[in-house]
Amino acid sequence: MQTLELSGGYRMPALGLGTWKADPGVVGEAVREAVRIGYRHFDCAPVYGNEKEVGLALSAAIAAGEVRREELWITSKLWNDCHGRDNVLPALGRTLNDLKLDYLDLFLVHWPLPQRPGVSFPAEPRDFLDPAEAPLADTWAGMEDAVGKGMVRCIGVSNFSRRRLEDLGDQARVSPAVLQVELHPYLAQAELVDYCRSRGIGVTAYSPLGSKDRPERLQHEDEPVLLEDTVIRSVARRHSATPAQVLVAWALARGTSVIPKSSSPVRLKENFAAAGLRLDERDMQDIAALDRGYRYVDGAFWCFEGSPHTLESLWG
Ligand code: NDP
Repeated sequence: MQTLELSGGYRMPALGLGTWKADPGVVGEAVREAVRIGYRHFDCAPVYGNEKEVGLALSAAIAAGEVRREELWITSKLWNDCHGRDNVLPALGRTLNDLKLDYLDLFLVHWPLPQRPGVSFPAEPRDFLDPAEAPLADTWAGMEDAVGKGMVRCIGVSNFSRRRLEDLGDQARVSPAVLQVELHPYLAQAELVDYCRSRGIGVTAYSPLGSKDRPERLQHEDEPVLLEDTVIRSVARRHSATPAQVLVAWALARGTSVIPKSSSPVRLKENFAAAGLRLDERDMQDIAALDRGYRYVDGAFWCFEGSPHTLESLWG
């Protein structure tokens, strides 16, 4: 399996399994099946509401001798109501407990949007903390504490713009090892990917298949369906592959890591096999023409009236 070498020398398997929307009662079996297929990288988060079941599945796979802990790469994230230096270690402790792990391979700040403690999803402006009173550098100091305590190997961020990465870089003792953002042919973000490469920051592509199982309130009418794109389908036909395999192979060909989510044994296998698909120059050129800056997870849900955040401040 292709890996990304991160700062600190750790190697992250390039293809992983996403677990958002993998429901309790389903996610455990998906994780067990994924381990059997060969997945070693699992992308988790407490806000997905399924870390306990993921933890049970991982420990069962280890106990059954299907995999060793040191062969796994487990990522989790700090939710928005746990920003602030003093809140990071307790939140991480809960995640480690749920996942039944002694350490995480990678811990990410999920969004650069501090919320009041106990608020899962903000419904009104006062659910957010004033960004000036809850600086990201303070949260990052807590992430650095986690490295110092050996609770995590690498730390990084998610949904950060280049400007936010630069601000953080100016103040950080430990540089972010990874940026996880939405990336697919409709949102190639070439400049951001190049910037990360120039800074030695590994990039992980989320929603690489177009996230069509997102909750309805996060979907837009008439949104383009990536898996049905005619160019993606024709590249797939040229290689006797599936559209999903082309999308995964495209992310790997760009040197990013990629974490498609599936709960279906057939599609888990199909997505994993994409690591063997090599796209050629013509494929990459055809796919490059699809870029249209389209976000499926657009962050509009953080930007309601009175919120301190706007789409412009979020994505820069
Ligand atoms: P994806 O783009 O991975 O799409 C998932 C959807 O594609 C599901 O409906 C799945 O259905 C379907 N699917 C999977 N494989 C195939 C296939 N081979 N053919 C056809 N359909 C397929 O969406 P996500 O938004 O879930 O992104 C992936 C992961 O990225 C998340 O699970 C999460 O771990 C991470 N993420 C992180 C975010 C962040 O803020 N940091 C935000 C969003 C995602 P089925 O399960 O039935 O196969």
